[in-house]
This record gives sequence, structure tokens and C-alpha cells, in this order.
Amino acid sequence: MGWDICGHETAVAFLKEHTKPEKLRHAYLITGPQGIGRRTLALAFVKALNCQNPPAPGEFCDVCTVCRQINAQSFADLTVLAPDEGHQDLRIDQIRAVQQSLALAPYQAKYRVVLILDFQRATAAASNALLKSLEEPPARAVLVLTADAEENLLPTIASRCQIVRLRPLPMEKAGAWLEGKLQVPKERAALLAHLSSGRVGAAVRFEQDPELLSAYEEALDQLQELLCQKRRQRLQYVEGLQKKKGGQRELAGQLVSAWLTFWRDLLIVRSGAEMPLVNLERQDFLRDAAEQMNLARIETILERHEKSLGQLDAYVNPRLTLEYLLLTLPILKSSG
Ligand SMILES: [Zn+2]
Repeated sequence: MGWDICGHETAVAFLKEHTKPEKLRHAYLITGPQGIGRRTLALAFVKALNCQNPPAPGEFCDVCTVCRQINAQSFADLTVLAPDEGHQDLRIDQIRAVQQSLALAPYQAKYRVVLILDFQRATAAASNALLKSLEEPPARAVLVLTADAEENLLPTIASRCQIVRLRPLPMEKAGAWLEGKLQVPKERAALLAHLSSGRVGAAVRFEQDPELLSAYEEALDQLQELLCQKRRQRLQYVEGLQKKKGGQRELAGQLVSAWLTFWRDLLIVRSGAEMPLVNLERQDFLRDAAEQMNLARIETILERHEKSLGQLDAYVNPRLTLEYLLLTLPILKSSG
């Protein structure tokens, strides 16, 4: 098994090299958008650092006790920290608690590792508290942070970490991986790659969870309706979403990702480009919409959606984002 990670070859090679004691740093920061595989990569690194039976230097076996415990997150020398259920922020008391465990010598492993997920969500006080561990790192301890972008952390944090940046894969590459690795049929693989904007972790979740895919179809049905509706109805729609269970940020992210595929398709239809449509079954509506909008307008809308998706990974208000996107769309004449 080992580092079976799609696409991020440079990052993998880099971290493999860093499992050598003389190369190992005391803090790493893995950045990239949600669903890109930051956590998977971080856990592979933890396994490579601590595997009892590495098949080659920098590799891990995935079957020894340590590897299995890390996979099950029951490994005594690994602490994984994320914002508490129902909380938006990583708080200072959470950071203080892991700092205490970081200071202890490892029980059984070579290194004690603390993995802190989504560190962009740390409060200023929590960030400042962590700085202390970065300035005076305990021996045989490794700190791994993940975040959406280093710009969203205090510069003093980012500058004390070895940064590993992950980027979305080109659609073809993500699609080919899904085809080869998960035996997803070609057309479906292309759809999933687009839906996830080249973030393989997100694509796999789509594949494994049919509800996500039906939520996607629903999001596009709603968009088609909303495009023919007025301001007031669009605001009511966003209002209605607030009553849905689950994270509003995640929900907004799913909607915007789904809508993005529509606007990409519309750009293709309007420009007459010879490219395959993701939402082929919606081509009648796309043609109709393309007749009512010029290319520049579609490009602007597409850019707004892309930008919003990036911001939703960070810290903008999901409700305001959706309202803004919907209220800046044209009102189309319905053909049916
Ligand atoms: Zn192992």
C-alpha cells in the first residue's frame, strides 16, 4: 500500500524525504482547499514516521500495529485536533490541552505527533498560544497543521512551519484516477471530477455517497427555477436553506460547486466551444439561457462563483455569499 495518494507527487516525495531524522522539521503546514486530501496526506506522513515495518525508507506498510492504530485513530502518540462539534472555532483551551500532551515523551512511537486540522479556524488567542510550541518545540514531537491557505494564518505561525502546498488536479487527471483506481465509468468519472473541481477527496465522497449526487441534481434544478424568478423569491430560497440541518458553510459550498458546473457549461454553449458538457441532459435549458446572456456576463458570473467557493473555504458568511450570487444573476424569461 503505502503513499497511495493521487496527484500530489511533489508533496509526497518531499514528505518522504522528510521522514529522515536529519531532514525532519518540528512543524509542517499542509495547505489547500477542502477535499483536496490534506488530512490523508498528513496521516500518511504520520504513518511513514512511525511505521514498525517500513518496506523501504520513507514508506509505510499500512498493516503493522502502529499503521493500523493510526488508521483507526487509536494511536496513543497521535493527537488529532479539530474544532469541536457545533463550534466554528479552534479555541485556546483545546490548544493548551494538546500542548500538554505534546510536551510528554512518546509512549511507544518514534515521534509524538499532534495533527491540527483547519487551523485557519483558530481564534487569535489559540494561534498565539500555539506559537509558544513553535518557538520552543519539545523533543521528539512533530506538529502538523492543515489549513485552506497560509494567508489565513498569522504570519508568525506560517513562517515557523515547513509549508507543503496542495493544488487541485487538472480535471482529466482527476477523472483518469477515478477511472483507474475506483473503476468509475469514464463519463461518470468526468462528471465527478468536475463536480469536485479537481479535488480528489471530494470526488471520492461523491462516488461513495449517492445522496450527494442527488443533492447536486437538486441544486441545479433549483438554480434553473431561480433563474426565472425575481429577487424576493431568490431571497426566500436562501432563507429556506437556513432551516436545513448540517453545516451551512458546507451546504453553501455544495451549492456553489454544483452551480459552477452549470456556468461552465453555459460558457461552452455560448462561446460555441467544442468541449463536452458536464450537464449534457440540461442542454435545452442551457441553449435557452445562452440566447439571453452575452459572453462577458457569463464570464463575470463564473468568476464570482469561483471566487465565492474559495472564500467559503475560508471565512465569509455563507448566507450573504449565496444572496449575493443569486441577486446578481439575470432574470431569464422562462421558455416553458
Ligand atoms: Zn506499518
